[in-house]
Amino acid sequence: MTGKQIVVLRLGHRPERDKRITTHVGLTSRAFGAEGLLLASDDEGIADSIEAVAKRWGGDFYVKNNVNWKREIKSWKDNGGKVCHLSMYGVNLSDVESDIKTWDKLMIVVGAEKVPPEIYNLADLNVAVGNQPHSEVASIAVTLDRISDIDTLKQEFKGAELSIVPTSKGKKVIDNKKLGNMDID
Ligand code: SAM
Repeated sequence: MTGKQIVVLRLGHRPERDKRITTHVGLTSRAFGAEGLLLASDDEGIADSIEAVAKRWGGDFYVKNNVNWKREIKSWKDNGGKVCHLSMYGVNLSDVESDIKTWDKLMIVVGAEKVPPEIYNLADLNVAVGNQPHSEVASIAVTLDRISDIDTLKQEFKGAELSIVPTSKGKKVIDNKKLGNMDID
């Protein structure tokens, strides 16, 4: 994502029913170039499990649990950041992606169920990844891919304990910790 600072704010996570999808929100955000996830609910377990996966697969992705979403948006904007709320009711991403690409500090907001109506006014842009209902995970992936200056599918994650050797059949995974202990000339 070179030079951009991107965080994802997850609204409306319900610990009793959204664990799996919020985990996917976190992992997808990380995999496609965001630096961290702000979780506007209290679910320390989810935060820990996303960070545990992130640690194993490299990079510095973080999860901030139980944030006050209004305060996070305000402080982001006060510090020169832009806020893009993903919603099927917004303007089509295809029509605004070149504008968003010029923003170096970006917060992407996604909901779970209905989001607080205020979000639509607080956001600099309400953006639809197509004007059909689908998923926060899909909308994050497509948005991060569209606004990236690099190939999001070939990102480097520094300090990974595990890394994959792409292969057309089967699975090849390198355990870098063990490799590090091996005597290699
Ligand atoms: N019924 C909810 C509403 O009216 O806002 C939508 C819930 S949807 C399962 C959860 C989240 O996915 C939304 O808050 C939004 O962030 C994202 N989402 C779903 N479809 C989208 C689309 N076409 N474009 C952008 N974001 C979308």
